Amino acid sequence: MKRKFKEDKLVLATHNSGKVKEIGRLLAPYVQEFVSAGELGLSEPEETGDTFTANAILKAQAAAQESGQVALADDSGLSVTALNGEPGIYSARWAGEDKDFGAAMQQVHDRLGDSEDRSAAFICVLALAWPDGHVETFEGRADGQIIWPLRGDEGFGYDPMFEPEGHDRTFAAMTIEEKQAISHRARAFAKMVENCFE
Ligand code: IMP
Repeated sequence: MKRKFKEDKLVLATHNSGKVKEIGRLLAPYVQEFVSAGELGLSEPEETGDTFTANAILKAQAAAQESGQVALADDSGLSVTALNGEPGIYSARWAGEDKDFGAAMQQVHDRLGDSEDRSAAFICVLALAWPDGHVETFEGRADGQIIWPLRGDEGFGYDPMFEPEGHDRTFAAMTIEEKQAISHRARAFAKMVENCFE
């Protein structure tokens, strides 16, 4: 049995305003008030975990401890089978300080070389942490394959090189609504809402 979220306020453990907006929209029906770690001036913990789950827990628990409120964090990335799961938890870091995802995607392409296995998955783990240390986690994934050359102008990050299973367009060639119907993030949120929110 998962613990239910019964509080009025939820801390979003991120300093990324895009994420705050997106999460706020997804959870608006269930939460009266959102406040972000950025607004509260909470420190940004180093992502020292070696899995998506470990990093999501680490961020959510740090925010819950520091704020004394329930906090939600996510960690996500692209896991490429033939690269032993890389870039994985390093997905953002592969793009470097200037967030150059063109270079990050080129690196995925170069490392894949002529490997026949083009399979990959986007993974998102959500961690919902209470100030008493309790934490619930939910994982969502979207399976697909890496394509080259890049296609599509929408989305962000590695979207132009990822074609989800059962589709002949990349995430970057889909509308936000189409992507959200099948994305790793949407799936993780659906699981969390079903189990913890009412
Ligand atoms: P996080 O903010 O630490 O979770 O880093 C996630 C990183 O994974 C992002 O910077 C993107 O590079 C990548 N990523 C996660 N989700 C997506 C997606 O839906 N499309 C494209 N890239 C994604």
